[in-house]
Amino acid sequence: MTEFGFIDTLRTLCADLPDNGFEGIGDDCAVLPVGEGRSLVFTADLLVEGVHFLRAATSPEELGAKALAVNLSDVAAMGARPVATLLSLALPADATDEWAVRFSEGYHALSQRFGVALIGGDTTRSDGGITINVTAIGCADSAHLKRRSAARPGDILLVAGRLGASGAGLQDLLDSRYDTPAAAVHRNPLPQVEEGEWLGRRPEVHALMDLSDGLASDVRHIMAQSHVGAAIDLECIPVADGADLRLAACGGEDYKLLLSADPRCAKSLADDFLLRFGTPLYPIGTIESSDRLRWLQNGCEVLLDWKGFTHY
Ligand code: ADP
Ligand code: MG
Repeated sequence: MTEFGFIDTLRTLCADLPDNGFEGIGDDCAVLPVGEGRSLVFTADLLVEGVHFLRAATSPEELGAKALAVNLSDVAAMGARPVATLLSLALPADATDEWAVRFSEGYHALSQRFGVALIGGDTTRSDGGITINVTAIGCADSAHLKRRSAARPGDILLVAGRLGASGAGLQDLLDSRYDTPAAAVHRNPLPQVEEGEWLGRRPEVHALMDLSDGLASDVRHIMAQSHVGAAIDLECIPVADGADLRLAACGGEDYKLLLSADPRCAKSLADDFLLRFGTPLYPIGTIESSDRLRWLQNGCEVLLDWKGFTHY
């Protein structure tokens, strides 16, 4: 069964459970309105040794920060501000005390940078590798929350940074090239926390999500949830240094924000973003009223079976 096949099975099986006021599975976070126009958002991500990281290729500090970063990215992807986390760890005997202290220091440093509290978790022994689970909680005005389901035909599709560096870094690590700039990007993802909250406040932003599995996969989540299609201009995809177009479209773990915006305001949105953050919002295509993803080269469709990264 695929990752998304399993999620669908769970979702169908559990559809008869009470929702207790939550908007559940399907977006970057679950949402709970808490009154006075405010909502909390919740997300959890796992990092498994050998699947998501190689212990020899990642410092404990980097891993501590990355375990948090990928969750903060999902909170930002809702237009919310992260406020607290729960950290659960399964540690094998060969993970030393020094390793655990350094891991904690990395986790602490990124928590401090974004003003996020650690409010709980769990710690246990592992007979296999290291497994890390982080649950992150964010808050926002309910009116500022952005969902994958809000894209409309005619919207401009934009991405909040260059893509492919993390995928290039993963290739470097797998080839035992640990010291390249791309490998450092892969080990040290920086979630777009302030950018996400800023985009949340902009009504011309419709759909918003973060790119964890790669543009070619992740844009399909916006398409599915919004019942729309998309056309992406290959020459507009911003390719990071050290990457190529295919890695930019298909590589995972860039953790840049992907959004759709009202076409009448997309230019001024990007101008304001540049003024605020000093980096561009790159227009890469448009939302269409179909159910297809079309790749365009100089306006003409090219047939590509590009897919993002899958864990299963
Ligand atoms: P993201 O990449 O943003 O973390 P995923 O693609 O991992 O999101 O997950 C898609 C959706 O499925 C999310 O809403 C997530 O909470 C939900 N999900 C993933 N795994 C499970 C699970 N084991 N049980 C319930 N929901 C899940
Ligand atoms: Mg996400």
